[in-house]
Amino acid sequence: VPVLELRGVSAAYGPGAAHAVTGVRLAVPRRGHTAIVGPSGAGKTTLFSLVLRFLEPVDGELLLNGRPYRDYSHCEVRARLAYVEQDTPVVPGTLRENLLLARPDASEEELRRVLRDVRLTEKVDSLDGGLDGQLSSAHMSGGERQRIALARALLRTPEVLLLDEATAQLDGLTEAAVQDCIRSRAATGAVVTVAHRLSTVVDADLIVVMEAGRIRARGTHGELLETD
Ligand code: ADP
Ligand code: ADP
Repeated sequence: VPVLELRGVSAAYGPGAAHAVTGVRLAVPRRGHTAIVGPSGAGKTTLFSLVLRFLEPVDGELLLNGRPYRDYSHCEVRARLAYVEQDTPVVPGTLRENLLLARPDASEEELRRVLRDVRLTEKVDSLDGGLDGQLSSAHMSGGERQRIALARALLRTPEVLLLDEATAQLDGLTEAAVQDCIRSRAATGAVVTVAHRLSTVVDADLIVVMEAGRIRARGTHGELLETD
């Protein structure tokens, strides 16, 4: 059973409005990286809003672990998902405080593990005070902020990790580090990313190409290049 499934889902912003997403059919396996690619306005964000249940479909249905969303409360759905937005800011305070926002009861060991998972261990060691060192947005690179956001999401032990343009504003080296996190996470869980360009999701297990609210193509990077 796919962890997440969209069956002919359509969405519109308001009654009578044109569909922002039309008849989307997608099964997200329990493990692996699924990437949704398409230009601005293609419907990628709308798809995430449907999955996170910020928006109800006007047609079709969504399923989580084979059960329709309507069988769950909103909280039950969100507890199984973690969403990392583009450019998540760090909040003033220590790294520990930033991480505990996600789960105040997380143990020291869990904090260390997620920091290792997102390759931030060295950063912690370089901070005056380690985990209890003060963070300052000004002294954090985009990639570090992104990885703190990722660490926060992982602490929630989600069944599906949703990432919005995970590597959009990162330089080559940081992009590689974030890709590395995505790859290692996808080995044991479901990761869904959204991207503008095919070139940032080369090693996704499944790429879904969206255009004007519909899925136009799906396949691996290699398969999609062949059919282009
Ligand atoms: P993408 O994330 O791929 O850029 P979106 O899902 O944001 O695409 O947009 C899909 C369509 O829905 C576009 O036509 C967009 O104008 C429309 N849309 C997105 N958000 C809203 C909104 N809050 N109100 C009305 N229309 C919206
Ligand atoms: P609530 O859903 O009532 O906000 P939660 O305990 O689920 O309470 O959420 C705690 C914090 O995590 C809140 O700041 C909320 O905005 C955020 N949050 C909730 N669901 C998600 C999610 N799926 N991904 C990322 N953050 C989330």
